[in-house]
Amino acid sequence: MSRLPRNALVVTGVALYPLAAVALFFQGNWYSFFHSYSLGMFFGLVSYCYFAVALVLGSRVRALDRIFGHDRILVMHGIVAGLALGCGIAHAVLKKMYFTEDTLQSGLGLLALALFLVVILMTVILMLETPLDRMPPLSRVLGFLKSRMRADYTLLKLLHNFAAPAFALAVIHVILASPVQETAGKTAFAGVTGLLAVAFYAYHKIARPVVSLLNAHVVTDVKRLADGIVEIGMVPRRGRKKRHVAGQFAFFRFLDRSCGLGEHPFTISSAPSASGTAITVKALGDYTEKLGGLKPNATCLVDGPYGLFYPADADRSLLFLAGGIGITPFLSILRDFAAKSREGDISLLWSVHRRDEAFALDELRSIASRLPGFRFRVLVTGEASFAGNAPDGRIDKKAIDGELARFESARDVTAFVCGPDAFRRSVQALLEESGVPEKNISYEAFSW
Ligand SMILES: Cc1cc2nc3c(=O)[nH]c(=O)nc-3n(C[C@H](O)[C@H](O)[C@H](O)COP(=O)(O)OP(=O)(O)OC[C@H]3O[C@@H](n4cnc5c(N)ncnc54)[C@H](O)[C@@H]3O)c2cc1C
Repeated sequence: MSRLPRNALVVTGVALYPLAAVALFFQGNWYSFFHSYSLGMFFGLVSYCYFAVALVLGSRVRALDRIFGHDRILVMHGIVAGLALGCGIAHAVLKKMYFTEDTLQSGLGLLALALFLVVILMTVILMLETPLDRMPPLSRVLGFLKSRMRADYTLLKLLHNFAAPAFALAVIHVILASPVQETAGKTAFAGVTGLLAVAFYAYHKIARPVVSLLNAHVVTDVKRLADGIVEIGMVPRRGRKKRHVAGQFAFFRFLDRSCGLGEHPFTISSAPSASGTAITVKALGDYTEKLGGLKPNATCLVDGPYGLFYPADADRSLLFLAGGIGITPFLSILRDFAAKSREGDISLLWSVHRRDEAFALDELRSIASRLPGFRFRVLVTGEASFAGNAPDGRIDKKAIDGELARFESARDVTAFVCGPDAFRRSVQALLEESGVPEKNISYEAFSW
């Protein structure tokens, strides 16, 4: 089955799942649906089902990753969690209109909701970029909070995990509810929904790290490629390395005292055919700065690969656009193409601030000599270019049109963009302006 129908199938399934619950609970009783008591139950059911789905979506399910890609799943996770919270609040308000008496069951529900609300507020305010960040009075406060809290992304992720105990409380609240206990079918539905979500989450949080530990990697070398840029090579301590498709990324957790326990996403920059796995890292913050000091023999836990940032076999006219360290997926892809002598026209535009950041220049030249259809251009923005004295400036429409001119039609080009958010947005707009259809543009964001 191609990607599109599977996408549609999963999205429809997610959307309809709460409706199955509603049908089960309201069968033979539809006349009472608009009564505030029944509406309260309706919102409660939808909230519970979507809360369970949000937990599954946040559990890095490989099968889903292969259909949507990791970043789209995170967007779905956020939307579904938001719906669950909204319906949960509507449920609590409507129920309060009928039941003023506080019971253990209702107390557990309120506690679950409060915890869930805190997790969502914290995520929206501290972990995501939202329009609130651009509103003048709020932007200062949010900027201050973010700079303080983002210093410890691992702590933020830990707090985000409080959604799991909130869900556990919600499961007990739902199972104890009298409409759920009415029939064995309703109790089973609520129980299985809760159990499935908890199982996925427990697999992700407990079983997966254990599997990564059993298949731990060992660092073989740490090469300095440029100022603040290192390549870290590693191999599995035993057994064979996991297969990846060029362009994919994984989560890496270095068990070294200097690094702490957090895991970070990095693109696998080595080719799939290489004997080991390599990542190429730019020091942009606390964690990435420490990676330059890693020593051979350090242990690394790898979870992955993930992502859909790779061309299909049928894509013959490829335009790659990289901003700074965003070159890493293209390095892996081009190394793979060179190893397979892949045919087709491939152009790469790589924007760097300083000339020495173009650490892969020699390798790109060597790949160009082996792949007749490949050509590349490095644009230096912050100092004199490779060709002359003036900086090249950013990738603009002229630079993009210059590359597109070699292809028969911009409409047949498949473009891949990787770099900082602002780079991605501007390049994506330029590509569309130059006639590359939106559906032909893929991008990889280096932050979520
Ligand atoms: C899919 C993907 C592929 C990436 N590939 C590469 C690569 O090949 N080379 C490279 O140099 N960088 C890559 N990055 C970026 C890299 O993960 C971040 O630069 C790094 O995690 C920043 O950590 P820090 O503590 O040094 O910086 P900080 O200043 O602490 O963080 C900067 C930003 O990075 C993000 N971030 C920090 N920690 C995490 C985390 N644990 N999980 C997720 N996001 C986090 C947050 O948005 C944060 O605001 C990639 C990111 C993603 C999402």
